[in-house]
Amino acid sequence: MQSDKIKELDKQNVMQTYPRFDVVIERGEGATLYTPEGAEIIDFTSGLGVNSIGYGNKKWADAIHAQAMKLQHISNLYYSEPYVKLAEALTKRTGMKNVFFSNSGAEANEGMIKIARKYSFDKHGKGKSTIISLYQSFHGRTITTLAATGQDVLHNFFFPFTEGFRHVQANDIKALENELTDDVCAVMLELVQGEGGVIPLCPSYVKAVYELCASKDILLLIDEVQTGVGRCGTLMAFMQYDIKPDIVTFAKGIAGGLPLGGILANEKCSGVFVPGTHGTTFGGNPVATTAAQVVLDILDDKLLGEVIKKGDYIKEQIKSWDIPIIGEIRGRGLMIGISIKDKVPRELAQKCANNGVLMLTAGADALRMLPPLTITYDEIDKGLAILKKTLERTIL
Ligand SMILES: *Cc1c(COP(=O)(O)O)cnc(C)c1O
Repeated sequence: MQSDKIKELDKQNVMQTYPRFDVVIERGEGATLYTPEGAEIIDFTSGLGVNSIGYGNKKWADAIHAQAMKLQHISNLYYSEPYVKLAEALTKRTGMKNVFFSNSGAEANEGMIKIARKYSFDKHGKGKSTIISLYQSFHGRTITTLAATGQDVLHNFFFPFTEGFRHVQANDIKALENELTDDVCAVMLELVQGEGGVIPLCPSYVKAVYELCASKDILLLIDEVQTGVGRCGTLMAFMQYDIKPDIVTFAKGIAGGLPLGGILANEKCSGVFVPGTHGTTFGGNPVATTAAQVVLDILDDKLLGEVIKKGDYIKEQIKSWDIPIIGEIRGRGLMIGISIKDKVPRELAQKCANNGVLMLTAGADALRMLPPLTITYDEIDKGLAILKKTLERTIL
């Protein structure tokens, strides 16, 4: 089907929730995408951090095919091998105690919030259920995860939102300390705020939050839906900080493009959910968890080291450009934000797409890059050359 026809059918039949870029994607190879008309586009987005091992990975596709032929789904009322193997790999490699599988990031965060509140209820009874999160955070699109999200523009229309969330300014430990009253059971944060603008938290702040929480038996909840699964150069980003989180969520990149998410709990929180307290029909689906196993095997120490090197390389290249609209360049590993002065990032991202490179935006002022973790230097150089030319032309 040609691009124009696809766009027309979208407008006629699909709820218009996404401000889509004017580009149709048909297929991909490595970190390179193609339109139905055959135009080549370098992908610096991974389908928003999802396609962690790029496009057309044969090992991944073969494993999915074999599992689909063997057993595509079985209820969580029965045991099966794929989800237990993945659970073992995840707990071994993260040092967390156990896992619950969900289908998305928002669903994982909902479950994490439920664990935090039940942990507190079991231990202290009612009245200690407030969760503190940060301004500029993003935790999902359900009514409760929107309440957790610290962006007022998203607290609209869908009233009433779930009660029991308050927000504080990131990187301000005094502000957090003031909010940790007796009603608080947990602090929830992203280590690099993704949607909010690719804003990394200071390691000293994160350590202080950890110590403050530990001293008050307040749980530390880390949303690694975007930062996790190798994105920042370690399997989970928290491994680069001097902290021990109580609960960690992940999703986006875990299954390389199939829907899967999850919640990792430490010893203290590992037994909070008991039969009947939580569940989800598709969670831990055999095909999705088999796909995730292939992704985890590919994300070994060597590849994770490469993620850091490629991220540094991209940042150095961009820093060397003499383009006045480029401001701060920030991020960790292959999660990179480029703040833009005097131009609308979304318009620049559309121009980039027209010119042959996909870019995302973040917050009010930034372009964002989340390329496949397996992207080659050749693809990086091609994409950067197009990005550079596009940003240069906007000066004229
Ligand atoms: C994308 C994202 C979510 C929401 O994940 P979905 O799979 O879209 O529900 C939650 N938290 C963070 C940090 C994210 O980047």
